[in-house]
Amino acid sequence: MQTQSLPRHRTTAVKVGKVTIGGDHPVVVQSMTNTDTADAKATARQAWELAQAGSELVRITVNSVESARQVPAIRERLDELGCDVPLVGDFHFNGHKLLQEVPECAQALAKYRINPGNVGRGKHRDEKFARMIEFACQYDKPVRIGVNWGSLDTDLMARLMDENHLRPSPLDADELMREAVVSSALESAKRAEALGLGKDKIILSCKMSVVQDLIAVYRELASRSDYALHLGLTEAGMGSKGIVASTAALAVLLQEGIGDTIRVSLTPEPGGPRSTEVIVAQEILQTMGLRSFLPLVTACPGCGRTSSTYFQELAGRIQDYLRQRMPTWRENYPGVETMSVAVMGCVVNGPGESRHANIGISLPGTGERPVAPVYENGEKTVTLKGDNIAEEFQRLVETYVERTYGQ
Ligand code: SF4
Repeated sequence: MQTQSLPRHRTTAVKVGKVTIGGDHPVVVQSMTNTDTADAKATARQAWELAQAGSELVRITVNSVESARQVPAIRERLDELGCDVPLVGDFHFNGHKLLQEVPECAQALAKYRINPGNVGRGKHRDEKFARMIEFACQYDKPVRIGVNWGSLDTDLMARLMDENHLRPSPLDADELMREAVVSSALESAKRAEALGLGKDKIILSCKMSVVQDLIAVYRELASRSDYALHLGLTEAGMGSKGIVASTAALAVLLQEGIGDTIRVSLTPEPGGPRSTEVIVAQEILQTMGLRSFLPLVTACPGCGRTSSTYFQELAGRIQDYLRQRMPTWRENYPGVETMSVAVMGCVVNGPGESRHANIGISLPGTGERPVAPVYENGEKTVTLKGDNIAEEFQRLVETYVERTYGQ
């Protein structure tokens, strides 16, 4: 699939290690570990897995001196594995102390994330926030000012409520909460700039857990500023609910050109892979035509014509095969990520879809002859038969990739 170039909301580009977020740069996929950062081995392992899955930035929690001390070791371990994914430190109320006490941590991270509603109250909040921004300036690191509606700055909320009472038409509770979230992000960003942090070092996010709130807040942020924007629905949930809610929210904003980097905050199934959030983020961008990461499989849903689950198994097998081959293909076959593969369940309607894919197969449906025609670039090239259709089709895909995308 070719990528689309939708009109983008203009933002200031921010360099985070080897990655650039905002400006004219493609939307960046990021993720977050859920290991204890003090366990450097486990965290490096998971960060590596997320990067292997395609995460272009990986955020880790830095919540204690023990975890801060392990950040350089995590960086070193990743470098040893040949993985240069930038690491982002997630700080809260004690971030200023950790950055001061563990300068190697401040240096090893590529970006700091600060939640202005979670660094204390009143004078202390201002001082802690200022100290963290000063460290960002000292170490020349960008900062994400990440507001979360669940931990809003209470002083700001109180001030906005007072102001709201004086309005001729006061905002309702939801509107006021959204305004507080947006104001917290924008006022904190202005403060950071006043403290010496350049606009090209600031990324904003306003995480909300309700789809319509998220859309409204980001539209407002985009209309009132040109800071680079990090999108994500917080507490999206598990399984299909989390995927659907994140996709619904992010797709609307991305279609409007809003958003420079995304994270899909899924709750993993017990024992399930953390990397699902990366795959979902990539698939949102790829199915919208905004970026290409790996060949997509088009498969029909199946119907009364499908005699068995064979074609579903083949579709799953081919999707797994493409993902597993992608790290090697990416190196040797530029452009392979745009390839489309069709796996269809019958030879009545299947060939039509197969013809539109780069390579496609139609498996025999109920009552159909046990043959599977294969199409490449719209032309029927071979008809597979027998018990090894899956293996033979996999070989044909491999040959197609070598022939089409080889140098
Ligand atoms: S392609 Fe064939 S098997 Fe698949 S849904 Fe359509 S008619 Fe049914």
